[in-house]
Amino acid sequence: MQKAFHVENHLGFRILRWVLIVALLSGIAVSTVQVVLDAQRVSSELERQAAQTMTMVRDAATQAVFSIDETLAQQVVDGLFALEPIHMASITHPNGDELGGRLRPLQELDFRPITDLFFGSVREYREALNRSTNTDITYGYLEIHYDTAPVAEIWLSRALVTFTSGIVIALILGFVLFIVFHLLLTSPLLRIVHSVKKVDPAHPDDRLLSVPKGHQADELGLWVNATNNLLVAIADSQQRHREAEDRASQLARFDSLTGLPSRDVFMEELRQDIQAAQAEHGSVALMVCGIDDFKSVNDQCGFRTGDTILQTVASRMSANLSSDRFSIARLGSDQFVIVEKKLRDGFQAAETAEKVLAGFASPINAGNHRISMTATIGIALYPSDAEEADRLLQSAEQTMALAKQNGHNHFQFYVASIDQAIRERKQMEKDLARALANHEFHLVYQPQINLETKRIIGAEALLRWNHPEYGLVPPDTFIPVSEANGSIVDIGQWVLEQACWQAARWASEGLHLRIAVNLSAVQLRQDAIVDDILATLEKHKIPAGRLELEVTETSFMTNLTDAVAKLHRLHRAGISIAVDDFGTGYSSLTYLKQMPVQHLKIDKQFIRDLLVNEEDTRIANTIIDLGRSLNLTVVAEGVETAEQEHYLTQRGCKLAQGYFFSRPLLPKDFESFIQTFHANIVENDA
Ligand code: C2E
Ligand code: CA
Ligand code: CA
Repeated sequence: MQKAFHVENHLGFRILRWVLIVALLSGIAVSTVQVVLDAQRVSSELERQAAQTMTMVRDAATQAVFSIDETLAQQVVDGLFALEPIHMASITHPNGDELGGRLRPLQELDFRPITDLFFGSVREYREALNRSTNTDITYGYLEIHYDTAPVAEIWLSRALVTFTSGIVIALILGFVLFIVFHLLLTSPLLRIVHSVKKVDPAHPDDRLLSVPKGHQADELGLWVNATNNLLVAIADSQQRHREAEDRASQLARFDSLTGLPSRDVFMEELRQDIQAAQAEHGSVALMVCGIDDFKSVNDQCGFRTGDTILQTVASRMSANLSSDRFSIARLGSDQFVIVEKKLRDGFQAAETAEKVLAGFASPINAGNHRISMTATIGIALYPSDAEEADRLLQSAEQTMALAKQNGHNHFQFYVASIDQAIRERKQMEKDLARALANHEFHLVYQPQINLETKRIIGAEALLRWNHPEYGLVPPDTFIPVSEANGSIVDIGQWVLEQACWQAARWASEGLHLRIAVNLSAVQLRQDAIVDDILATLEKHKIPAGRLELEVTETSFMTNLTDAVAKLHRLHRAGISIAVDDFGTGYSSLTYLKQMPVQHLKIDKQFIRDLLVNEEDTRIANTIIDLGRSLNLTVVAEGVETAEQEHYLTQRGCKLAQGYFFSRPLLPKDFESFIQTFHANIVENDA
């Protein structure tokens, strides 16, 4: 606790007090000595004066007693009274009879009680009177009494001056000393204290003390410099202490062989990752990766080789997996663990696992050995498999152990159904990759009918995959997969190519139709997409007006300006754009106005329950009205009944497609459908 800084604790104040006391005491002492010495001098001066006076009147007095001349005696006495201090004078016979004498009262002065102490009130002198011829005979006595007051008065005034000047000099000296002390010592000391207060205990060398001006060479300067050296030394020692602590915690926090985080650090991070995922309703994958047969490599090639393998595996993993989405740690001797954050779905984790397994593929150089390794991975997902870090790790470890029993060099998911689904999807990706080359795709065409004229104005091209094993695979199953792995770009180009080829063929047979082709969001993101589309049209000599591209609202959302620019280029070239599945996505008027869109396709989910579900009917009506007010043609898809067709027609919807008119058809069937359909209309009209 700091003591309050009272005035009486000021060094300057204490110095002042002491200097004043000492100066006063010594002033008083010196003055007293001076005054006492002066008193002695005055005293002896008095004696001398008395002796002089005696000598002066002695002859006359002796003459008076010798001749017994009273008049003379009285004259001598009266003469003495001309001197101020004379109090009494008498000339007497040896028998005591007075021949002449006089007395006047002592001067009454205030200071007498003091000065009488020094000098006495009266000084008495008595001298025998004899003649020089015969000193043995005494003729009488001369007696003089001096009043001490007149000399004492002079002495006293001198003493007062001496005292006062002594004290005044002492006071002046005291103050001068105090000021000198203040300037030389207390004020620079206070400045030093001020800068000491600013020293940061955590970083004592950040702000060293400053030497007060003019004190560089004196004791204060030396002191400040010594203190600064001490501060630097303290900072230095603190720094070394911190470094030692860091090294110690580094050792505890990281695996010394691979430099990867230790289990404790990893678990702590995993908990945080889980918390973060929980906050944003995201997922996390935890993969435990065990090296296959590591023990036998260790036994055969030695620990050193084993260490090199572990280090290589660790550095390959770190190089393959970016640190912002993945964290890697070493769990046990031959086990690594990987956390994948911001996980889209299990498929993404499967891709990561494949990447990790691929990292083992190239042989590892360890000493003289070139060793090929494989690994097995167990995957657990947050939140579906476990919600806490420990449980999640346990699940992944179990899965890894289980997977090792089923063979090497593969990965497995904790939940069997997920594992199955992901395996199937992986298989589908593989199959899809071959499908184009194997000519497993073909297109079917669904007619689009003008509800007013009841004529076929075009067709939507829809993709079909004829899987060699499973037969027809629905596009809703494989298109998302091909969008996720990017193969939709090539597949989509094939669709466009095929549709244009078909349109050109029909045109050559006199069948001029507008073909609608679905354009995936992934395709629209490709830089070359516009050029590719225009080149395809060119190649098949199809007028741009014959092509319609169906895009979904989600296609715009990832990069609106880019999408707008591309669609504008396509539109300027003469291609028409339809918004597919309208009503299921964002359906924002703001972007709709920016888009060069000509058609809105009401999604089939609203048509299905048209006239049954009020909500769906309202949405369909709203889209029709919106289309009218924005001057866009509205297409209803999924029309299955005459009621739906009737309602849409009288509600003002322009175009429609659906099973009510026709299912999507092979080109051959489409051609015959057109003929019968138009023949029917002619019949009806007739
Ligand atoms: P979509 O573009 O909305 O296509 C309309 C879907 O509705 C087609 O399913 C069509 O067969 C179906 N449909 C037509 N009329 C009716 C009807 O009256 N009732 C019912 N219940 N359904 C009807 P499909 O062919 O299975 O295609 C599904 C989705 O696959 C398409 O939805 C489209 O998003 C996508 N797709 C199909 N072909 C391609 C393609 O070549 N490229 C791209 N990117 N996507 C395609
Ligand atoms: Ca479509
Ligand atoms: Ca649709």
